[in-house]
Amino acid sequence: MHTDNLTTMYRAFGIGEKILNFAGAVESELKSRFEAIDARAEQNQLKVLKAMQDNRVSDIHFAATTGYGYNDIGRDTLENVYASCFHTEAALVRPQLMSGTHALHIALSGNLRPGDELLSPAGGPYDTLEEVIGIRPSVGSLAEYGVSYRQVDLLPDGTFDYDWIAEAVSDKTKLVTIQRSRGYADRPTFSVQQIGQLIAFVKRIKPDVICMVDNCYGEFVETIEPTDVGADMIVGSLIKNPGGGLAPIGGYIAGRRGCVDRAAYRLSAPGLGREVGASLGINPSLYQGFFLAPTVVAGALKGAVFAANIYEKLGFSVHPGGSEERHDIIQAVTFGGPEAVIAFCRGIQAAAPVDSFVTPEPWDMPGYDSPVIMAAGAFVQGSSIELSADAPIRAPYTVFFQGGLTWYHAKLGILKSLQALADAGILPGFSEDGADIRR
Ligand SMILES: *Cc1c(COP(=O)(O)O)cnc(C)c1O
Repeated sequence: MHTDNLTTMYRAFGIGEKILNFAGAVESELKSRFEAIDARAEQNQLKVLKAMQDNRVSDIHFAATTGYGYNDIGRDTLENVYASCFHTEAALVRPQLMSGTHALHIALSGNLRPGDELLSPAGGPYDTLEEVIGIRPSVGSLAEYGVSYRQVDLLPDGTFDYDWIAEAVSDKTKLVTIQRSRGYADRPTFSVQQIGQLIAFVKRIKPDVICMVDNCYGEFVETIEPTDVGADMIVGSLIKNPGGGLAPIGGYIAGRRGCVDRAAYRLSAPGLGREVGASLGINPSLYQGFFLAPTVVAGALKGAVFAANIYEKLGFSVHPGGSEERHDIIQAVTFGGPEAVIAFCRGIQAAAPVDSFVTPEPWDMPGYDSPVIMAAGAFVQGSSIELSADAPIRAPYTVFFQGGLTWYHAKLGILKSLQALADAGILPGFSEDGADIRR
């Protein structure tokens, strides 16, 4: 499978021959999957390029602004590029949106007023949004500002409970929030088409409701985005998919002009809106990252598909399954015991370009009810488009793994995770070999 030279190089990383042969056989069965991923990346690359050309992106847009950032044409043009690419009227793309959670908070609090109700028709939102909304009481939550919240859980098979959703949409319902990716929850990720069906259903009941999609981890996985199927607003993080690994910070909100403007007035101040906000010299990374994002996402997807097939063949439960269609870049593997979870994360860490010599340990992270272990050797702190893995140390011992700026790095990470499991005695068939040449 591998040339001798490549085998020698993998051996130098401590990967045993049995693991190389096994992984090579799995990889060779994935040719058509990888071709399909590449075909989508090609379409998305053209989509991004067209948006850049149509907006006449030029050298002058890479200049830094400071202070108020008035007339920052680099910032304004980048926002037009996002709007063109996602087929929206407007976009807010800012380093002042500090994370995905912050962007979602701004989109929600900018568009909701006291007395309004927020509806989540597809189960509970991402963990950090519980405090934003006030599901868990928190200082400054939407609940403190008089915004109520209603949730309709998914049916046991992971589909939308349309009967209950129809009941839940009321006069007060102002905004509907739909999370595309499963995040770290136990439910399927929704396809863009499924999201479109849900939006159409809600809009038939209440045409003027604002439909917002939390697009985190979903950008460029398919060739359409939720704004192509009726979403009024999509929101995401630039240290995930659309930043292409180069964005050092930032978030985006793209959608109808009124929605984006209201978010901008919340981000800066009433009266100021989008007119202020210096880009401080990071525009080149935001443009170039967006340009690279389709191929970076393709690499991460190949890693996720490869990991799913490897661990499924070894008898572990994986979500999504090895042959399932993908709608985000997250891969979950359930190991059933803490040793395997820890070994897996240590393997991912050992493959990193940064901090490969560090040994991840479970720790009591604020806000979590069990210890959490995280592997990340990233150029940008917390960047989860870069290869990373995390897991709460509790039953059923599931690791969530995502990212990889290149497929080759994702592959090495998975091989290292396998080797770490073998070295810990968890994969008896692979255990003896490779151990002698570990670093
Ligand atoms: C990551 C993520 C968020 C929050 O983004 P942060 O940048 O971590 O604050 C919200 N929703 C989903 C689905 C996510 O994956």
